[in-house]
Amino acid sequence: MHEGAIAENIVDILKETKEAENIDKIVKVRLKIGIMSGVMVDALLFALTALKEEERIIKDTEFDVTEINVKSHCVLCNKDFYFKKGDDIMLLCNKCGMPLDIIEGKEMEIIDIEAEQ
Ligand SMILES: [Zn+2]
Repeated sequence: MHEGAIAENIVDILKETKEAENIDKIVKVRLKIGIMSGVMVDALLFALTALKEEERIIKDTEFDVTEINVKSHCVLCNKDFYFKKGDDIMLLCNKCGMPLDIIEGKEMEIIDIEAEQ
């Protein structure tokens, strides 16, 4: 994944929000990023910091990232599996061999935007 492009997307979303809600200043943005999303958090924060030079809208914005661990589910066994960063993430159920459904851990979302009007 290209964190620079993701950072630009985030800035675009913030610009749209600013327009739509008549916001003066964006103080804080909370993001959640799944550990299986393919996004490197450090690289993303670096890219956002670099964008602060040219994008006035995020000049004083603090970015707060919550990393989301993986929750997966086997429909056959009706069992949940949990993995955190650094774990060897199973894609198949260790009981029946069915591919696991990834329920959490692939997302990359803005949770909320704290703004001054
Ligand atoms: Zn299973």
